[in-house]
Amino acid sequence: MASRTAILATGLLVGGLALAAGIGGLTTTDRIQDALSALAESDPVRAEAVAAGVVGSERDGAWRAWIVVAAARQRQGRHRQALEAYRQFLALCRDPAERTYAMDRIRQCRMAFGPPPRPVPASKLLSRQRRAELAEVDSLQYTESTEHFVIRAYNASLAKLVGSQAEVALRRICRIILFGQDYPHAVSIYVWADVAEYRKHAVSAAEWSGGSFTLRQDASGQTVRRIDLTQRDDDGNFDVAMLDRILPHEMCHLVLAELFGDARCPLALNEGLAMMAEAEVDNSRVLLAGAAVAGDRKIAMDRLLLMDRYKAENVAVFYAEAFSLTCFLHRRLTPEQFREMLAHIKGGCPLDEAVQRALYVPYDEAFLERLARSWENEAVRQSQFLKALHEEEDTAS
Ligand SMILES: [Zn+2]
Repeated sequence: MASRTAILATGLLVGGLALAAGIGGLTTTDRIQDALSALAESDPVRAEAVAAGVVGSERDGAWRAWIVVAAARQRQGRHRQALEAYRQFLALCRDPAERTYAMDRIRQCRMAFGPPPRPVPASKLLSRQRRAELAEVDSLQYTESTEHFVIRAYNASLAKLVGSQAEVALRRICRIILFGQDYPHAVSIYVWADVAEYRKHAVSAAEWSGGSFTLRQDASGQTVRRIDLTQRDDDGNFDVAMLDRILPHEMCHLVLAELFGDARCPLALNEGLAMMAEAEVDNSRVLLAGAAVAGDRKIAMDRLLLMDRYKAENVAVFYAEAFSLTCFLHRRLTPEQFREMLAHIKGGCPLDEAVQRALYVPYDEAFLERLARSWENEAVRQSQFLKALHEEEDTAS
């Protein structure tokens, strides 16, 4: 396979090399030929080095060196970098046969490294030792600044970690809600040692929560954007949920609160988006949503969208269905349609009308019912799929 790659690359380049020689002089051609010879002699490291030198020279025909760089990387098993080089080649190549060849190589590289890995939540990468360090509380409050955040915590290393994870979470939120636009504001983050300290200092601390956000005007008219978090759980351990779930969740509420201003965002959509911003999908929500809509615990979609509070007996189903419905809409609509849907909701439309407007379909009263059926079917399908997957894993292990 490896030597066939080299031979194919050599064959396809012959015609092009002659052209490059005619236009750009011998130097570029000679060097590409030298790189190709190295590839044929099973020396991909030298081939890559020589071809990479030509790539930067900006002489006529130099772009063809990208395909040698790509083939050399592929031979070394560096498939991701090879794929990148094939893409560079494709961006410059107009020859149909050479394009087909490069696209075929890209498919090979993709198969070699498989689907992109799911990003691992930050807390999963922390060793026991590191978690113990992050649970330590100093007498001094440290301040750490990043592009969008000023973090204050009683542990210097924790302040740094929260800063980097806040930037990661903000990028994810910008992708979901702001459609890739940058977030133009600065946010203060306070990390308090434990729940008692959090309750004493947080600006808006709900009784039960380990985190909250604040968006308000101060006395001088300046907008205060702030998130309050808790460092340790009730057992005195570093609270990993703070990093993976609470920080991105509260940040998403903050960004949404500013986006909606005085307009009403249905609580289910607000909580659904905040859960989507969390670092990891909580499968128990997917399973519960499927079980609820198929059974007698269901909160029907029209009622779900009107709820602005929940009771202790339906809080779990409320969150599960809110997450399921929001993911369903986010998957079914294009980013542009989702953005338009949010804009229509902000303008006062109920969700079904906002979706119809975003889809540019004439208003239809039966749409809400059809949307509800379609979401419920998908919620059931997804939970069945997840259950089947778990059973397969249990059988295999
Ligand atoms: Zn929330």
